[in-house]
Amino acid sequence: MKRIGVLTSGGDSPGMNAAVRAVVRKAIFHDIEVYGIYHGYEGLIKGDIKKLELGSVGDIIQRGGTMLFSARCPEFKTEDGQLKGIEQLKKHGIEGLVVIGGDGSYMGAKALTERGFPCVGVPGTIDNDIPGTEFTIGFDTAINTVINAIDRIRDTATSHKRTYVIEVMGRDAGDIALWAGLAGGAESILIPESIGDNDIDDVVARLQRGQERGKKHSIIVVAEGIGNAVEFGKKLEQLTGYETRVSVLGYIQRGGSPTVADRVLASRLGAYAVSLLLEGKGGRAVGIERNQLVDYDIIEALTQKKHTLDQSMITLAEELSI
Ligand code: ADP
Repeated sequence: MKRIGVLTSGGDSPGMNAAVRAVVRKAIFHDIEVYGIYHGYEGLIKGDIKKLELGSVGDIIQRGGTMLFSARCPEFKTEDGQLKGIEQLKKHGIEGLVVIGGDGSYMGAKALTERGFPCVGVPGTIDNDIPGTEFTIGFDTAINTVINAIDRIRDTATSHKRTYVIEVMGRDAGDIALWAGLAGGAESILIPESIGDNDIDDVVARLQRGQERGKKHSIIVVAEGIGNAVEFGKKLEQLTGYETRVSVLGYIQRGGSPTVADRVLASRLGAYAVSLLLEGKGGRAVGIERNQLVDYDIIEALTQKKHTLDQSMITLAEELSI
């Protein structure tokens, strides 16, 4: 392989830039040319493609977002869109592609692979919900942003003897809520994986037990996937009689300078993706397991593997917040 491409797609995450930098530098180190595809699959279809040099990725390792920009591109879900993409790749002499993104972006990489174009998927999403890796690029930064917010809200919660419901991102995956809730000492953590009808009763019971013990405040972390946090807060206030406030953290969780953990993970995974392409291996999804780099067949990873939450952490969070 003499020339590869790299794109970022779907929701941006902190550390994507560090991953792009790693792809570019690792490739150039091995005398491979790298072309940046701007605006994800949309730019691929349109041919928004430019050569990247060592300097193109200077001064970006510390930046959130993605210098290659990102986009949602419904056209790429169609055969026509994918064939146009492959045509552009061939026109530019690109022989392999690194796709940095979430599960939707992986589907695009899978589609290209099935059409005979070698792709390697690098997990970039704050949600930590990609099969075939224990951690995704951006997750660590996001949970640190959340913990910062929880610590601040806790100050107000203590001063005013209030209950706070804090909604964090995670439509289908509760990782952000679980990790940040555990690290933030939340009384209750509600996640989409285990939401049940009786959850509110359990939250109420915990709150009441806390008050009886003389607790001044309570923090409840909920993932967005469990439903409307504002409604939940109102219901909780009605049931307990405790003054309750709701804070929806929203998009602040997606941006910001990546943490050391995310920069290192992004650098390792980005460089590893290039190594695989250099070995002639396409159609792979890279990840990290027990601090070792791993790679799986991208089709198998998407169809047969499933991201699951560590059940022992859910139990631990429950035990520590009695
Ligand atoms: P994320 O990668 O963060 O999960 P999306 O789900 O929006 O974000 O996916 C990003 C892009 O990946 C989509 O806009 C589309 O271009 C492409 N994509 C998603 N699903 C498929 C699919 N089934 N086949 C081909 N491309 C897809």
